[in-house]
Amino acid sequence: MKRITEWLLCLLCVAILISCSTVAFTGRKRMLLYSNSEIASLSTQSYYEFMSTSAPSTNMVTTSMIKDVGNRLAKALDRYLAVKGESDLLDDINWEFYLVRSNQANAFCLPDGKVVFYEGIMPVLTTPDLIAVVMSHEMGHAIARHGNERMTQQALSNMVGAVTGMIIGQKTSETGRAVFETAYAIGSQYGYLLPFSRKHELEADEIGLYIMAIAGYDITQAPLLWEKMAQAKTTDVPEVLSTHPSDAKRMKNLQQLIEKARKYSKSN
Ligand SMILES: [Zn+2]
Repeated sequence: MKRITEWLLCLLCVAILISCSTVAFTGRKRMLLYSNSEIASLSTQSYYEFMSTSAPSTNMVTTSMIKDVGNRLAKALDRYLAVKGESDLLDDINWEFYLVRSNQANAFCLPDGKVVFYEGIMPVLTTPDLIAVVMSHEMGHAIARHGNERMTQQALSNMVGAVTGMIIGQKTSETGRAVFETAYAIGSQYGYLLPFSRKHELEADEIGLYIMAIAGYDITQAPLLWEKMAQAKTTDVPEVLSTHPSDAKRMKNLQQLIEKARKYSKSN
């Protein structure tokens, strides 16, 4: 048994070494154990499950606003990365933008690039720039491969559990699908994604700001949106913009990044 445990730990170390990479735009080191195509196929399944219990919005004006902002951001990002020779950062991401009927003030992006806005968030997002703040943040999660990283963390903790289970004589195994569902629960049961970590949220804010700049949107609207959220606290606070991390921390983080983000507008 000791030999098997040592062998498994060795295998784990090798997996860690070969799966290390850096996050687009921020350069943070992270570990991804899953392939982009594997995650994309799980995302697509989740999306269809989610849509089977949701209805597309009948508000054509707002729907086309969502699609217009999304397409402008996606096109600009595509062009920017192509010029830099980094189009592979978008492997297995195919942007699609949707608005669904729901009073929830929310939005999410699946790892394969499907971005879903709920009607309930739209009263706060009164201009294309404000829509771009939330949209680019959601796209940031996909480009940073936060879903894969979350699944990796889940799988590693399962692996530790499995090794412990072997030592104490229990059998555990989880398929990629089960790991995805634990790490990325959407659909009828939850209706929205489980919250990302504070680190992932701040990173998506940062990447989102750069994408906004690349696409020529007004980046100063990003900290302003969070200010608006803080003021609206007593009423309806969008879950996507909830207090985790706190509005104050987000605003400060975004304000500090504005100058850096301006360089991306110039590079376009
Ligand atoms: Zn987020």
